[in-house]
Amino acid sequence: MKIKRKGILFVISAPSGAGKTTLCREAMSRLDNLEFSISYTTRLPRSGEEDGRDYHFVDEDTFLEMVEKGEMAEWARVYNHLYGTPKTPIIKAIEDGRDMLLDIDIQGASQIKAAFPEDSVTIFVFPPSIEALKERLSKRGTEAPQVIKERCDKAEEEMAMYPLFRYFVVNDKLEEAVEDLIAVIKAERHRVKRIKETQW
Ligand code: 5GP
Repeated sequence: MKIKRKGILFVISAPSGAGKTTLCREAMSRLDNLEFSISYTTRLPRSGEEDGRDYHFVDEDTFLEMVEKGEMAEWARVYNHLYGTPKTPIIKAIEDGRDMLLDIDIQGASQIKAAFPEDSVTIFVFPPSIEALKERLSKRGTEAPQVIKERCDKAEEEMAMYPLFRYFVVNDKLEEAVEDLIAVIKAERHRVKRIKETQW
């Protein structure tokens, strides 16, 4: 039995510090056919980040030129920097039956949901608590205290946006959260409406 289906855009958003990046990495390491969508950003690389692997790091002019040319599927200003998902790779992935994981903010998630209502699946990641989220942000040690405060304040606002999403995962115990995320991904892969062609 051979089944061909369209690719799916798995869009994962969370308040900053909810542990989304670790969750995404784990899910990608355990699943076949799930690629990371590499965003463009105007922020500087953090130590350990690689251009072309974690992000495409560009200046603001280059970014805005891409927006102007319609090359972004979505984009948003997040904490004073621009972030965007390039359109061509995700359209190609849908056509080729490859699934993509988009680790993007809530504004971006709404734009993808509107632009690809049939081919996207939105997932909201809750931190175990606001306190845990604050602790994680401080421990990460990559941001200045002012930035941490800004992100904590925003996190509470962002938590209220969960009804925009189709699924949720609570990132309390990592192993359970990874299993929940994988369960969502597998279920969506098996929706009959995604079948393009069958051969038996
Ligand atoms: P960071 O600077 O910590 O890597 O990311 C900050 C926020 O920007 C995170 O919530 C991340 O998910 C979001 N982000 C990363 N790439 C994109 C993107 O392409 N579009 C949007 N809208 N948000 C993004």
